[in-house]
Parts: sequence; C-alpha cells; structure tokens
Amino acid sequence: GDALAVSARVAPLGSRLVLLLVEDLTEARRIEAVRRDFVANVSHELKTPVGALSLLSEAVMDASDDPEAVSRFAGRMQVEATRLSSLVQELIDLSRVQNDDPLEDAEPVRVDELVAEAIDRCRHQAGTKQITMATGGTADLRVWGNRGQLAAALGNLVENAVNYSPARTRVGIAARRIPATGGDLVEVAVTDQGIGISEKDRERIFERFYRVDPARSRQTGGTGLGLAIVKHVAASHGGEVTVWSAEGQGSTFTLRLPEAGAARGDRDRAAGGP
Ligand code: ADP
Repeated sequence: GDALAVSARVAPLGSRLVLLLVEDLTEARRIEAVRRDFVANVSHELKTPVGALSLLSEAVMDASDDPEAVSRFAGRMQVEATRLSSLVQELIDLSRVQNDDPLEDAEPVRVDELVAEAIDRCRHQAGTKQITMATGGTADLRVWGNRGQLAAALGNLVENAVNYSPARTRVGIAARRIPATGGDLVEVAVTDQGIGISEKDRERIFERFYRVDPARSRQTGGTGLGLAIVKHVAASHGGEVTVWSAEGQGSTFTLRLPEAGAARGDRDRAAGGP
C-alpha cells in the first residue's frame, strides 16, 4: 500500500529513485518484522518457565500432606526459577550490548585476563565433565574495547565449547596477533571436540533464540542468545566472529578484535587526547 502510493507520487523523478524508495520501505518492513519476531520469541521463552512454575506451585499446594512430594516439586521450581533468571539476565546483556556504545569507555584489555575470566566462569561445569582446558599465545596481547562486553563475548564462546562437548574432551583457547591494514588484529580461537554444527545450522546459530536442539540447549541452561551477544560485541568493536565446524568432530569459534595500541588512535584517546 504505502510503497505503491509513494512510488506513484515520485514516478516522474525517475525509476531509479523510485526503486531506492521502495527498497527503503522494504528494509523498514524487514526491521519491523524482525522486531515483532523478537518480541514474540521473548514472550514464548518467558511463558515456558512461568507456566511450569504456576503448575508446580499448584502441585505443591495439592501435595501439602506429602512432604516428600513437596520437596520434589520445590526442587523443580528452583530449576525453572533459575532458567527464568538466566533468561532475564541474558536479555539484559543483549540489550546492553545493543544500546551502549562499547567504545565510550574503551580501554586496552589484556587477553590473558579475559581468557582466565572465561575459564573461571565455567570451571565448575568443565570439572564435572572432566574437560581439560588448554590456553596458548595469550601473553602480552591486548585488545581495545569495553572490558565487560569483551568478557561476556569470550565467556559465551568458552561456555558453549564446554556445554556442547562430551566428557573427557579438551577445549583449547589460542590467541595470536594477525597483521592487517588499518591496524593489527588479535585473534582468539576457541576449539572444542564436541558435537559440531551442520553447515545449514552454521548459517543461523548467530540469530537470537536460534538453537540447533532446543531441548538439549534448555537442559544446559541455554537461552539461544549467547552467540547473538558475541556477534554484536565483535561487530561493534570493529571485529568479527566466525565459525568452523565438522559434525561429530568439533567446532572452532574465532573472535577477531582490534589490537590495543594499533594504529587506531586509541592511545591518544586513552591519554585524553582527540
Ligand atoms: P545457547 O544458549 O543455546 O547455547 P547460543 O546462542 O550460545 O545459545 O548458541 C546457539 C546454538 O548454537 C546452541 O543452541 C547450539 O545448538 C549451537 N552451538 C553453539 N556453540 C556450539 C559449539 N561449540 N558446539 C556445538 N554447537 C554449538
């Protein structure tokens, strides 16, 4: 409707302009559709644990004369409440990385510190599964950016590596500097020997709420937002995240970020200059 009305009005200005306007409207519609999908997805994801909590609380009331059943239901309520709170936390993280300018309080951040923090975050789970963590090449490297956002990004990648790997495997985190025009980059690669990701799924895993196996992801407390956060942080820092994977063999997620001190004027900014 709108698009046609607009194109009829500007038709005399030439077909190229009309085409541009129509494309603009199509893009606006696409963004609107993505926003609607997101709200629908959030509602759906919130409904699941909330519904379970409501049923479980009814069950607790009905079972008031059976202490053993009450404690079993209470345990399940705790699982659902934890899921709900991690979903809300990830939504807050996502909205933060989408809305805050990461370079506003950017600073040089040591890669070995980011890696240590990421490993710490899933130390417990890795221990339970007897997964060995190995790191290499992180010494002396620094990236330029928002410490909290960078920690969240790397933390998500390492957490996934542990989550989607069988017991007694190895997760490697390797860093190196790669020369690039416009300033060197730091590359951090997280490699696992896990279940891998098919080619078809590799195209979609960075979308919000996309999960290859929703049941499995939910079991491990996954929300489907982690990689969307990683992708957003990488892009807003002038970097990128890519994935290599072989099904049944494992995956490597590679984060490339501008090196601190490279020719990007960050030293001037850090010193309070222009
Ligand atoms: P989730 O909270 O489900 O882990 P993510 O956005 O972090 O959400 O990841 C999206 C999906 O990508 C996961 O549900 C999983 O199917 C797949 N995935 C992510 N990392 C890995 C990995 N290292 N190995 C295998 N599959 C992975």
